[in-house]
Parts: sequence; C-alpha cells; structure tokens
Amino acid sequence: MNVQPKASHFVNGRPMEDASGTIIPLIYPATGERLGQVHAATPPVIEAALAAAEDAQRDWAARTGAERGRVLIRAAQILRERNRALSELETMDTGKPLSETLVADAASGADCLEYFGGMAGTLTGESVELGGDFAYTIREPLGVCVGIGAWNYPIQIACWKAAPALACGNAMVFKPSEETPLSALKLAEILVEAGAPAGLFNVVQGAGEVGAALVADARVAKVSLTGSVPTGRRVYAAAAEGLKHVTMELGGKSPLIIFDDADVEDAVSAAINANFYSTGQICSNGTRVFVQTGVKAAFLARLAERTARAVIGDPMDEATHLGPMVSEGQRGIVLNYIEKGVSEGARLVVGGKARPGPGWFIEPTVFADVTDTMAIAREEIFGPVMSVLDFTEEEEVIARANATEFGLAAGVFTRDLARAHRVVRRLRAGTCWINQYNLTPIEMPFGGVKSSGIGRENARAAIEAYSQPKAVYVSLGRVEAPF
Ligand code: NDP
Repeated sequence: MNVQPKASHFVNGRPMEDASGTIIPLIYPATGERLGQVHAATPPVIEAALAAAEDAQRDWAARTGAERGRVLIRAAQILRERNRALSELETMDTGKPLSETLVADAASGADCLEYFGGMAGTLTGESVELGGDFAYTIREPLGVCVGIGAWNYPIQIACWKAAPALACGNAMVFKPSEETPLSALKLAEILVEAGAPAGLFNVVQGAGEVGAALVADARVAKVSLTGSVPTGRRVYAAAAEGLKHVTMELGGKSPLIIFDDADVEDAVSAAINANFYSTGQICSNGTRVFVQTGVKAAFLARLAERTARAVIGDPMDEATHLGPMVSEGQRGIVLNYIEKGVSEGARLVVGGKARPGPGWFIEPTVFADVTDTMAIAREEIFGPVMSVLDFTEEEEVIARANATEFGLAAGVFTRDLARAHRVVRRLRAGTCWINQYNLTPIEMPFGGVKSSGIGRENARAAIEAYSQPKAVYVSLGRVEAPF
C-alpha cells in the first residue's frame, strides 16, 4: 500500500511542501519497514497555516450555524464512504489491527463530525430578564484554535478537536504526532471536499517544537492537546503566557474495580478491553485492576485462559487482535516496565515477552499480586500490561483507587447497583463506567480530573470549550448618574 502523501502539510485548502524541514520517516510498526517520509513544518509553513486560519475564520464565523453544520455532516459521510481506505492507512501508520481501525477510528471521527454538525445550527445565546432592562448573550467562537494530537487515535483525535471547533465558528491548525502524520491530512482534504473554505482546517507536521511554536503565537486563542502529563504541563504553561483557553486530554492510570458479586465473564471481558485494545495504547485504560479477594482465583484463571488465546500478528489480517506497539521506542519503554514488574516482585501470570522478528510486538501481559507502591501500579505504561491488585473492603478500594495523581477514568463491576453508584460518586475521575469499560460515545463528555486534564471533549461540554458568551446589556430607560 502506498501511504506517501502528496505533500507533508495541508495549508490554505491544498497540500503544501517545504523540503527543507527535518525529515520524519514513515515507519510501518509491524515490520519496521520505511514507507516514505514527510517533513517537519518550517517557520514559513507555520506562518502560512496560521495566516490562512485567521483569514478563513472570519468568513466561516459569519455563516449560519446550519451552513457550518452541513459541511461537517457532508465530511462525516465522506469519512464513512472511505472508511476502509482510511482504516488501512491508520493501520499502516499506527500498527493497530484493522479489526479495530475499521470500527473505532475514522468511524468515531465520523460520529463526531455528524454530532457537532447537527448541533451547529442549534447554538444560541440566552436572554436574561432584568426587570425592565434586559441582557442577551451571543455565543461567539474563540478564533484560531490549535489542536495537537497523540499517536494512538490520530484521525479520531483530529475529529474530536476539529468538529466542535468548526461547529462553533473557529478555524484550526492541527499538528499530528510525528509518529502518525498521515490521516489528519486526509481529514483536511475531506473537509475541503465537503465544502469547508480554504484555510479553515490546516495540518502542519513536526515534533514538539512545531507544537510549541503554534502555542506561542499571538493569533492563537485556544490550544487543545492530547498527550502525556509532562507535555501537558509544558503546553499549559506556554498557553498561560498568552492567557489562552486550553483543553488538556492527558494520561491516566485508571482503576477498574471488580467486586465479588460481579459477573466474572463480563469483568474479564472489560479487563481485556481496558488493557489490550489498541495494544494497550489508550489513555483511559483501566490498568490497575482491583479484584476483591473472593473472586480473585476465578477472575485470574479466566483472564489467563482468554488472554493466551489472543491473536498477535499482521495487523492487516482482520483476524488479528493485537498489532505491534507504535514504535521501537515505545516498545522499549513497555519492556522496561515489564522487567520492573518482575524485579519488584509482581507475579507474571501470562505474557511478558517481546515477539522475535521484525516489528515492535509485545505479548499481552498480566501481573498479579501487584502492590500499590510498585512502578507498574503507579506510572502510565501505555502498553499491553495489566496489573491485578487484591482488595477486601469497599472503603479500602476507594481510597487506593484515588491514591494517584491521575484521574482520567474508572470502572466498577458489581451486581449491586446501589454500591456501584455509591462508589462511582467517590472516585476522582472524569469518566466512569458501571459494568462496562472504555466505551466513549460522542454523546458523553470525556476528560480527566487532577493531572489527567482540564476540560472535556465530546457532548455539549465541548461547545463550552470552543466558544464564549458575549453579554449585551440593553437599557430601555434613562441613564442615571450621581452628579
Ligand atoms: P506526548 O505528550 O509525547 O505528545 C503529544 C503531542 O504533543 C505530540 O504531538 C507531541 O509532538 C506534542 N508536543 C510535545 N512537546 C510539545 C510542546 N512542548 N509543545 C507543543 N506540543 C508538544 O504524547 P504521546 O504522543 O506519546 O501520546 C501518549 C500520551 O497521550 C499518553 O500519556 C496518553 O495517556 C495520552 N493520551 C491522552 C488521551 C486523552 O484523551 N486523555 C488520549 C490519547 C492519549 P511529537 O510527539 O510529535 O514530538
């Protein structure tokens, strides 16, 4: 499959190249093969993208919401029509198996464009009665927004940022992760095909310094980042210099709590989804699986049995469950954590090895008898490594689940619904699931508390994140003054 794009960037409605930018190789994670290259954006490319966005935004904001929405809905339709090609591209770029990308990447992006496309025409301000006089508010866009993506869900992240931003009348300059530069370029083309004006959605490639240059620019009103906590701290600080709006979707070490009375088969399914989907490269993964002691043996036995059946291999084969890690570097990080788990005394139940041969494959790995102080229980690994911890009491597990700097997500498995709601209310996490894990429908707000982030993506909450009310006081009487 030829994945080489026409040009590295997409600026002002068309592909743009500047071959003097640093080379970013395109590597297929399943084989390590080099498929092509793009160039990092140079200062003239960054300037062109920001200038185009600023120009396009004025006209776009002047259109009606329904007109803006129509473009987004058309883009969603094109994404769906091209789902297979986009999924194959995403698989080549990320290494995620086609069995996932066919249903979870461009498809989720299309849901998002459709959802915010439908909402665009409904965005209104409020009327405020003031006993004679009155006020009204106008929901205004912020202006030029910058989106910066991680490598695990490239087109989904681009859509989750672009759709609400564009629905509200903003323009965007998007920088994908340098690991996965390809699908955002396709989204940019599709938006133009769907009727978006040139310059409304621009893509520039590059590593952190390109992101940093965008964040620092005075024309930028808002920054939405999906990335790790350390990057989040840096980007938040840089945005604060310019008093810019931010949305920060950062890392996690989320708890999945399984009580004795849970349906064991469902709990095992959830633990698998919460740790091994996308080869474990998901921010909201429930990587600390707290299992009540009464169900521990049954849970671990079924988990080991089912995990051993996982098909690892060619991600383009639709029968494959786990593809490789995104890069050699990420595989090294994950293997290092597996070694730490062993040396700190956790019990390796299944997996634990890299697969020999080309590509950055790691077996799905389960550790049992993990304690709260071990590195594998405290730090985000971002790979297929599950830590199973024991607990006995509800109070105890709530305290331990919350004893982390992260607060992205949490899950509770129990047949006692009163307990489920009681526990969820006390978990410090932005997104919680009861008897389910990692489903993120577009209608539900998504985001973290504590170090896991600021603000929410998806749902109506995202409208607040990409617009602001202008308040207008209207006097119907005379003006009084003290002298
Ligand atoms: P990174 O934090 O390494 O990078 C995120 C993005 O920020 C990349 O595009 C990166 O560029 C860019 N970047 C790095 N430094 C700067 C800077 N100083 N200024 C502006 N931009 C910068 O994350 P990863 O790509 O490694 O993704 C994994 C992380 O993302 C995990 O921690 C994961 O939990 C989190 N994540 C969070 C999600 C959420 O919704 N909460 C969802 C998905 C992932 P480049 O890498 O190209 O150099």
